[in-house]
Amino acid sequence: MSETIKGYVYRLNPTTQQINLINQTFGCVRKMWNILLFERKSIYELYGKYPELLKSHDYLNPKTIKEQFPYMYDVDSQSLTTAWLHLKQAYSNFFNKSHNEPQYKSRHNPVQSYTTHTTNDNIRIEGTYLKLPKLGPVKIKLHRALPHGSIIKAATIKRDGKRYYVSLRVEYEHLSQLEKTFEKAIGLDYTLQGLYMDSEGNKADYPNYYKKSLKKLAREQRILSKRVKGSANYLKQKEKLASLHLHIKNQRKDFLHKASRYLVNTYDLISIETLDLTEMAKTKHFRKSISDTSFGTFTRYLEYKAKDEGKTLIKIEKYYPSTKTCSQCGREQDILLSERTYHCICGHEMDRDLNAAINIGVQGLIQYVKNAYGTDALAW
Ligand SMILES: [Zn+2]
Repeated sequence: MSETIKGYVYRLNPTTQQINLINQTFGCVRKMWNILLFERKSIYELYGKYPELLKSHDYLNPKTIKEQFPYMYDVDSQSLTTAWLHLKQAYSNFFNKSHNEPQYKSRHNPVQSYTTHTTNDNIRIEGTYLKLPKLGPVKIKLHRALPHGSIIKAATIKRDGKRYYVSLRVEYEHLSQLEKTFEKAIGLDYTLQGLYMDSEGNKADYPNYYKKSLKKLAREQRILSKRVKGSANYLKQKEKLASLHLHIKNQRKDFLHKASRYLVNTYDLISIETLDLTEMAKTKHFRKSISDTSFGTFTRYLEYKAKDEGKTLIKIEKYYPSTKTCSQCGREQDILLSERTYHCICGHEMDRDLNAAINIGVQGLIQYVKNAYGTDALAW
């Protein structure tokens, strides 16, 4: 599998409190570096002519230094470890003559930075915030989205004058590579009209005979309302309605069985939304009463049919903004309920349901790979 490693630079807008902690971290990292460098230089002066002694010397490490300066425990410990590793690297570059001798860091330099590495997903983007160790959520200006499925491996926090930046080192797999592990994968977006739109642009709509039955139901209901309650004609009409209800229910079930059967037979990986009708009503104008039986039943049918056939059904995390996200560039932006077309500032324009279905399909692939190979799978 091919992997891509890239750096993405963004502006940060830290709070005053976060600025203080960032500057404190710069200070600690600088101190760590300078102490270790002083030791290296002194030892080099002493034993420079005796490489064996130089190598066997018991050098200081971040732990021993932190014990001397307990305030260093207040800052991100990864940043201090990284400073130590960077210095070791700088020295080996110096010894193999690819670089000059490392220099002391000055607090007067307008550019200050520290680097921290991800452990247990502690560096991640949440909406318009970047979660960073010790700092918590820092406001980030995401002028361009990270690629789908990317994993943040490290973050360098930088101050240049009064501006703060972060450079994210990101690893990701090309999704086209992942898609090849399936014969066929599809994403579904449940729709107000009909049942769903799939990520290939196909709409699944209820058959005409079913729609006709619904119209008939409405008609018969009106007739009932005109009958005298309790009369023989009223009771007769009521019976007629009950059997019509049953008939419609069976027609609907039949259609949902066929639709789910088709999907499970055709695709190996099917990604759908997590059914939350209250939430869906907000983003899609669903009338809850009509939709809940159909979508609930359809989801159940897909679930057990996929299981029977050894196919995979993935339910996308409830809060994933499939409607708001641009399927082209990954930006998020609001879209009105009345808008049928999704417009993005990147220039992408697409039917709103198709855009959502593509997002759901891609998220499903990402989730599948994570489930199958672990969270780090996308960072090989
Ligand atoms: Zn876009």
